[in-house]
Amino acid sequence: MLRDNYAYLLVCDKSKAAAIIDPSEADPALNRIEQEGVQLEGILNTHHHRDHTGGNEGILAKHKTEVYGHKSDTARIHGLTRGVDEGDVIQVGELKGNVLFIPGHTTGHVAYLFDNNLFCGDTLFTAGCGRLFEGTPEQMHASLKKLMALPDNTKIYCGHEYTESNLRFAMSVEPKNPKLVSRFERVQGLRSRGTSTVPSTLEEEKQTNPFLRWESKEIHGSLKAADPRVRLDPVSVFAAVRKMKDAF
Ligand SMILES: [Zn+2]
Ligand SMILES: [Zn+2]
Repeated sequence: MLRDNYAYLLVCDKSKAAAIIDPSEADPALNRIEQEGVQLEGILNTHHHRDHTGGNEGILAKHKTEVYGHKSDTARIHGLTRGVDEGDVIQVGELKGNVLFIPGHTTGHVAYLFDNNLFCGDTLFTAGCGRLFEGTPEQMHASLKKLMALPDNTKIYCGHEYTESNLRFAMSVEPKNPKLVSRFERVQGLRSRGTSTVPSTLEEEKQTNPFLRWESKEIHGSLKAADPRVRLDPVSVFAAVRKMKDAF
């Protein structure tokens, strides 16, 4: 949707109940819901930004449905009826999803986990992470750590198609990581054909995403080269990499 946003239609095959995650726009979402012949039971917003909630109003004009988002964002998410928090369970037909509270990009950011499918908005990106608009490096680091504790085969469905530019930055801080080099080549090939690079897996992110690699000696070296006084504890490494990316 929009230029590089992803929205996702989650469908329970048995009951044909569905939920739409982060609809930036109403029309493409409404068309897809009609095409699939599904019954919309919820809009699941990961956070309040307009490029993740812009479709709420138009969808609500056609479907009476619940709107989920973090309970602190009642005033910032249009039509919110179900304020959720860490540990809450959401039902879509026979599918059950868990809510993870992962602040940092915004103060009210959540992820939705259905089986091994993680819808994580603008917190964890494929090969990157969201900017710290409202939260602190400590918060974002803790949120990413929480996501890293999920099984390696967790599929990462993020809010944007940013993989290629994220990898270009990753290559600037960890160019000798062979898994990163091969991912960059593969992703460039996919993007040159206009193919989506989402989802990835958590395993792939742990191996190549510089925002999850606070133990990497090569990244430590790149940070030291840029600022010899940098501290190398995990939060400081994360904060320094984030700052570098902001200026990249
Ligand atoms: Zn955002
Ligand atoms: Zn976004």
